[in-house]
Amino acid sequence: MKHRIVVLGAGYAGAFAAGSLARRLSPADTEITVVNAVPDFVERMRLHQLAAGQDLTPRKLADVFAGTGVRLRLARVTGVDPERRSVAVTGMTGEEGDGELSYDTLLYALGSSVARHGVPGVAEYAFDVTGRSSALRLGERLADLSEGGTVLVVGEGLTGIEAATEFAESRPDLSVALAARGELGAWLSPKARRHLRRAFDRLGITVHEHTGIEAVEPTRAIAADGTSIPADVTVWSAGFAVHPLAAASGLEVAESGQIIVDRTMRSVSHPDVYAAGDCAYAIGDNGRPLPMSCASAGFTSMQATAAIIARLTGSEVPAVGLKYHGNHISLGRRDAIFQMVDADVRSKSWYLGGRTAARLKSGVLNGAGWSIAHPTFGMPRRKRRLATTPDRASVRVAA
Ligand SMILES: Cc1cc2nc3c(=O)[nH]c(=O)nc-3n(C[C@H](O)[C@H](O)[C@H](O)COP(=O)(O)OP(=O)(O)OC[C@H]3O[C@@H](n4cnc5c(N)ncnc54)[C@H](O)[C@@H]3O)c2cc1C
Repeated sequence: MKHRIVVLGAGYAGAFAAGSLARRLSPADTEITVVNAVPDFVERMRLHQLAAGQDLTPRKLADVFAGTGVRLRLARVTGVDPERRSVAVTGMTGEEGDGELSYDTLLYALGSSVARHGVPGVAEYAFDVTGRSSALRLGERLADLSEGGTVLVVGEGLTGIEAATEFAESRPDLSVALAARGELGAWLSPKARRHLRRAFDRLGITVHEHTGIEAVEPTRAIAADGTSIPADVTVWSAGFAVHPLAAASGLEVAESGQIIVDRTMRSVSHPDVYAAGDCAYAIGDNGRPLPMSCASAGFTSMQATAAIIARLTGSEVPAVGLKYHGNHISLGRRDAIFQMVDADVRSKSWYLGGRTAARLKSGVLNGAGWSIAHPTFGMPRRKRRLATTPDRASVRVAA
C-alpha cells in the first residue's frame, strides 16, 4: 500500500507543500492528496486590491496541479481525528459528497480568517479583506458608495495600512480614515515612519491614534472613550484568527488555537501530523512565535516538506531558516515601504520607500504566485523512494 500524504488547504503553505512533495517523492510509493474548500488558489496578499476593484484573475487549482500527480479534492474539512488518522470532509458536488479521508501523514495548512475579538457589531456590520468572498462583498459595497462616503479601516497592522492606502488611492472621492490602538507605524524606523505619514497625508487619510474601537454600528464605529467615528463602511482589520477545528480535534494547540509544532513543524502531540502557515504555532530562530504572514507560510511549509521527505526517505532532517529580514508594506500601487529588521525583528534604520519599493513588492507578490502556479518547476529526474515499506511503523523508524 502507498504512503498516503494528505495536505489540508491549498493556500500559500499547502499548495507550495503539495507541489514540493510531488516534485520530490516517487509516485510509486506515495499518494498525495490536497483538500481545499474552493476551486481557485486565493492570493490573499492581494485581497485589498480585489476589494478596491482591481481585476485579479483567479488561478484554478485543477490547472496548478495538472500533471503533477497530486490528487485535488474540492471539499470542506469539517474535522480531523488524529487517533484514527482520518479527516472528515463535506464535498461541494454530489460526486465529492461527505466522507472521510485516511492518511499516514497529514499536513494541516488551513490558514486563518478575520479575528473579530468578540467586538459587538463586527460580525453584523463590518467588512474585511481576509477571504476572497468577504473582499468581493466589500468591493461591491465600496462601489455603491457615492462621493463623500466614509470608510473606516480598524487596525494599524500591515493589512490595515495596505487596505486604507489602497482604498484612498483608488477612490479619492471617498473619505478614508484609519483607527489605530497605538501610534501609526510605531514599529518602523523614524525615517520610514515619516514616509508612512507623508503617504497618508498625500492620500488624505485621517488617522485616529490611541483609538480602540469597541462597537460597530451600520453607519459609525464607537471608540473606547465614547467618540463616534462616522463610517458608511467599517473594514475590520484587527488581526487573523484560526478555525477552532484544530483545537476540537485533540491536537495540542496554543491559546490562539494554532497547532503547536516542534522545529520541524511536526505536531508535539501527534507525530503523524505537521502544520504550516497561519495555523502553525512555530517558534522562529529568535525564540519568538512566527507571525501569521506569507513569509512564515513559506518558511514553515518548506521546513515541513523537508522534514516529511527526510523522515520518509530515511535521511537527516535539514533545518530551514525561520528568520525575518524585513517587512514589506504596499501604500497603494505606486508607493511602498520595505523596512529591514534585525534578528529580534526590531527595525533597522535603513528602509526602502517609494516606487522602487512598490516595484519590489509587486515582484515579491508575482514570485509567490508564480511558484504556486508552477509546482513542477525544477522537477528532479529521479524522485526519491521511501526508506522502508511505507507503513506507519516504518515511518516512525525512519523518524
Ligand atoms: C489583504 C492581505 C494582505 C496581506 N499581505 C501580506 C504581505 O504583504 N506579506 C505577508 O507576508 N503576508 C501578507 N498577508 C498574510 C498572508 O496572506 C497569510 O499569512 C497567508 O495567506 C497564510 O498562508 P496559509 O497557506 O497559511 O493560509 P491561506 O493562504 O489562507 O490558505 C488556506 C487555504 O485553506 C483553505 N481552507 C480554509 N479552511 C478550509 C476548510 N475548512 N476546508 C478546506 N479548505 C479550507 C482556504 O480556502 C485556503 O485555500 C496578507 C493577508 C491579507 C488578508
